[in-house]
Amino acid sequence: MNPRYRKPMIAGNWKMNMLASELKAYADALKPASVPAKWCETLLCVPAPLVPGAARAFKSCRVAVGGQNLSEYASGAYTGEISGPMLRDAGAEYVIVGHSERRAMFGETDEEVNRKVKAALDCGLKPVICVGETRAQKMLGVTAELVTLQLRAAVSGLTVREAKQLVVAYEPVWAIGTGMSSTPEEVEQVASVLRAVIRRTYGAAVARGTRILYGGSMNEKNASELLAQPDIDGGLVGGASLHPDKFAQIIAAARGE
Ligand code: PEP
Repeated sequence: MNPRYRKPMIAGNWKMNMLASELKAYADALKPASVPAKWCETLLCVPAPLVPGAARAFKSCRVAVGGQNLSEYASGAYTGEISGPMLRDAGAEYVIVGHSERRAMFGETDEEVNRKVKAALDCGLKPVICVGETRAQKMLGVTAELVTLQLRAAVSGLTVREAKQLVVAYEPVWAIGTGMSSTPEEVEQVASVLRAVIRRTYGAAVARGTRILYGGSMNEKNASELLAQPDIDGGLVGGASLHPDKFAQIIAAARGE
């Protein structure tokens, strides 16, 4: 982390878990850990129906709320879709775009991810853009090329002002939900590749300010050494974010406690 230029962020991704009735107990358990938010921004990306309740429940512990996906369209005849303006209206500040589960299970392409990034920015949501390689791609040694292509496509055609809103998450697909995280050295190498993509596209000042998170089996035990890397500015945490005590320990690690 480089707190001089970037405020660390610990983001949780609840995926398709949790109910509205569980929000209060979670917020009560997390509260002592999340105040003050001066040194670390905390975000929970919750299922869309939980966004309004989460925005209310987490307000007093200064945890921002995000969605996990959005439609590339702002409104219209798209049954079952949820638009960026709807998430914003419900209290979301951020939205995950291009998570590997959406790419793999719902066929999201790089072009669609780019349209969703633009749809998010258009309504004032800050996108958390996910990129990462599969195990097969890692074995082939193409990680750097692949994440470069993914990120270049995702951020194509933005203004500098828009690019400043982005958060990037490096999430090796093989590390998600498996209990096997990447090594701090490997993560740092990829994060510096991603920062270079932002630098080449939007300039040094934007690159210096862009937060790059690591995601993939980050937990309360490995968070400190992952977060110690200079280009890793936080974490995108799946499984461990469902447990407020573990999530609180990861937040503490981001604060250097
Ligand atoms: C994720 O879903 O983005 C993720 C990183 O999950 P986990 O922490 O469970 O690997």
